[in-house]
Amino acid sequence: MLIKRLYPHQAQRSSSAALFKHSGLYFANDEWPMTIRHRSYFFDQGILFECRQCGACCTGDPGIVHVYHDEVESIARYLSEGVLSFIEKYLYTINREYGIKEHADGQCYFYQDGCTIYPVRPGQCRTFPFWFENLRSSKKWRQVSKACPGIGSGKLYYKEQILKIINSTFVDHVNNIP
Ligand code: SF4
Repeated sequence: MLIKRLYPHQAQRSSSAALFKHSGLYFANDEWPMTIRHRSYFFDQGILFECRQCGACCTGDPGIVHVYHDEVESIARYLSEGVLSFIEKYLYTINREYGIKEHADGQCYFYQDGCTIYPVRPGQCRTFPFWFENLRSSKKWRQVSKACPGIGSGKLYYKEQILKIINSTFVDHVNNIP
């Protein structure tokens, strides 16, 4: 359930991005103030992570995995499906975007002993676990680490890389605040 979001969007991603950009709470990565880049974080030395495709975050309690319009075509192409039939088989509409259908037990339609669309998985999955809400405190990060066996081994993500991913997930975090 870790990757799934529990609350639907309140606004379209693009308009929200503009809103937060103008309010000063969201920055294009090359516009970050030096204070954000250079202050100290608990992940200053980087974080090891490599997804083991264990499925802990793609199964279990129901939730929402968003697929944005600009992600639909590449997933459909990867599955050799036409866009319309792909949408009909695998997605449902949620506000003006899509969510991935789940089986009755909460398992993602694309999880079968591993993610069947891994190379083209949606941004929500691709950026996990380096989400704003997961890294905003070391306490929260410890909770996420306990549930995800991919954290702590594998590829080293440097602080700068992590900050970029966090920044890219900030708008989604705000949109999903209940
Ligand atoms: S290793 Fe972590 S990110 Fe990968 S499937 Fe398991 S819980 Fe999800």
